[in-house]
Amino acid sequence: MKKILIVGNWKLYVTEVEDAKNLASGLKKKLSKIHTIDTILLPSAPLISTVSAVVKKTSIAVGAQTVSPFLDGAHTGYESAAALKSAGVKWALVGHSERRAGESEEVIQAQVQAAVKAGLSVILCVGETERDTQGAHFSLIERQLSSALARFPTSPAGGRTKLIVAYEPVWAIGKNAAEACKPADLEEMSIFIRRALTELFDRAAATKIPILYGGSVDGSNARELLTQGGVSGFLVGRASADAKSLFEIIDACKG
Ligand code: PEP
Repeated sequence: MKKILIVGNWKLYVTEVEDAKNLASGLKKKLSKIHTIDTILLPSAPLISTVSAVVKKTSIAVGAQTVSPFLDGAHTGYESAAALKSAGVKWALVGHSERRAGESEEVIQAQVQAAVKAGLSVILCVGETERDTQGAHFSLIERQLSSALARFPTSPAGGRTKLIVAYEPVWAIGKNAAEACKPADLEEMSIFIRRALTELFDRAAATKIPILYGGSVDGSNARELLTQGGVSGFLVGRASADAKSLFEIIDACKG
């Protein structure tokens, strides 16, 4: 059975070592009896080693919220993919809208390539800022995908380097459940993304790439979005930084 995937982007909502420990160990306990859900936690960089130690030898993986486009050298203040990999990180989040604001498509492409080169798997966020009736958001998503994934290994699902695509419409991020993407619109977009991935990779590989949704997911809308939106799971921001709301999403998804 294909597992549901929940990625928790803690952003800067979790800032204390003790809070990170408690949240990660609570999740570990919660998932010890649930075998239908895989999770990836994205703590801020100083908390990565704390979280990695707590979730060691569990199905919970750890990722970084961003990655440098440079592998090494004179670049102050960035986390290199190589350093993240050596610290036990498995995944790098690239193209989140809160970073796209200051990162060009070229930088995003370089971040993906740096992650791949260092052996990290990639969670690529795509999403439009607004929608119009002409459907310009579809061509924007297609451009974001083809630019970021140019020169990505051709077998992203089965190979050593894995890929997850997270559709995160910017207009739905950080709001409330009522303002999340509607399931029918999400389904249309996930079909579109799947087709776009088929243009970039061979069909067998493209069908295996998980497509997630992110934007104001909570326990009240998760089930409907999951069952009607054509996605494999969620990238969760605010609600992932609080045990109660995270567990509500898990309960809604576990089936
Ligand atoms: C996000 O920023 O990745 C996100 C999905 O945020 P939220 O769940 O808070 O809308």
